[in-house]
Amino acid sequence: RRPIPSFRCSLAGGVTTVPILTELKMKCATPLPLLQRIADAMASDMRAGLAADNGSDLKMILSYVDSLPTGNEKGLFYALDLGGTNFRVVRVQLGGKQNKVVDSEFEQVSIPQELMQGTTEELFNFIASKLANFAAKESGKFQLPKGRTREIGFTFSFPIKQTSINSGILIKWTKGFAVLGTAGKDVVACLKEAMQRQGLDMSVSALVNDAVATLAGAKYWDDDVLIAVILGTGTNACYIERKDAIPKLQWPAGGTRNMIISTEWGAFTTDLPLTEFDKDMDSESINPGEQIFEKTISGMYLGEIVRRVLLKMASFSSLFGDSIPEKLLIPLVLRNLFPMTVRKFFNLAKKEVSEIFKFFCQETRSTLKARRIVVDVCDTIVKRGGRLAGAGIVGILQKMEQDSKGLISGKRTVVAMDGGLYEHYPQYRNYLKDAVAELLGAEVSKNIVIEHTKDGSGIGAALLAAANSKYASEFQI
Ligand code: BGC
Ligand code: MG
Repeated sequence: RRPIPSFRCSLAGGVTTVPILTELKMKCATPLPLLQRIADAMASDMRAGLAADNGSDLKMILSYVDSLPTGNEKGLFYALDLGGTNFRVVRVQLGGKQNKVVDSEFEQVSIPQELMQGTTEELFNFIASKLANFAAKESGKFQLPKGRTREIGFTFSFPIKQTSINSGILIKWTKGFAVLGTAGKDVVACLKEAMQRQGLDMSVSALVNDAVATLAGAKYWDDDVLIAVILGTGTNACYIERKDAIPKLQWPAGGTRNMIISTEWGAFTTDLPLTEFDKDMDSESINPGEQIFEKTISGMYLGEIVRRVLLKMASFSSLFGDSIPEKLLIPLVLRNLFPMTVRKFFNLAKKEVSEIFKFFCQETRSTLKARRIVVDVCDTIVKRGGRLAGAGIVGILQKMEQDSKGLISGKRTVVAMDGGLYEHYPQYRNYLKDAVAELLGAEVSKNIVIEHTKDGSGIGAALLAAANSKYASEFQI
């Protein structure tokens, strides 16, 4: 609805945005009792998902990662990391206990929008060709013993039903991907075929989720890491579980006691405080009814929720001037911009807040009042997201503690965090940590270290390729 110009309120956004903002804040509130209910529900959904494959919203995926890198790994390994926004290729020279990561290099490209909705062949051809280019540039400081095939750890950041450490079937796409024909296929086989088409001879030793790779990467440096959480374009969490606490684990469990479980918590739904904006965004998304927790807390969606709120405000007031800015009508227009720019708006520094007005309507002279409203909307959505993510982490901690008393309490426990939203968004981080502290209380939470692990998913995947290498026995001691 375009506002009638004569109704334009001189205090841009002054009067008519108030009820919208008030209601938004009410609906997005995350008081402690609600967070506790969510943490409890997360813990019980985890148990149900461990009991049976379709036992709960949470898939609780068996990663087949049951031996983590020891530090003894040696040699040259590659990683491919297909995330939600970027694709990365990595090479790592591992030097064993003394030298650990001797050298590493990576290249990153953003995934072209059309590939996200193209065909399986196109997507995998793209991946294989980037890998081929990168591998061709390997310099002398990286060394592969003669006669060996280069090995890859493939980080695939979508829900996979693993069939072994180096094979797995895509369950569904998330994060705006809708590539034709991939669901139901083994993504390692897809990659192998594409590599063959490129004439590239490399072998995939490990297929891992980004959260799993992050956990492996972080634990390589710090043995107290038990959980890893991704908060980027999408979200997920994984943790180290005892095999005897996984009823659905049927295949011979082998020597080691533990396995990393990827929760796929993005699909969690219980008790989430949702608004009309969330519901509309979900029903207009390419995966309606799916990934509701992800759509409430992760980077791809926070800006979109904000856009929807601002759009409603702009149609009832002159928040952005006389008419509704065209850009405000474009779905997902804040998808990538949000984490990069909106975080600055919290400073309320005039110049930076004005950026969002410039972006939407070339209007640099906004009123302080209008800027405050925009900041308030962002803050409401970010606060809800951060606090809910914190409740999710507490749910995992609770589950681990209840099932193995004393595992966590009284001990230093590290939660390794990665993802652009977490990395670049201090307000989000603070809200998350506040919620964890409120829920656990001061005594317990002082032992819980929530820590950013940079690039764990690339190095972590290379480490897992090494740990599962054909030649792994050579560096076992
Ligand atoms: C995917 C997960 C992934 C997460 C973070 C989600 O959309 O379902 O597999 O770990 O995003 O990248
Ligand atoms: Mg990633």
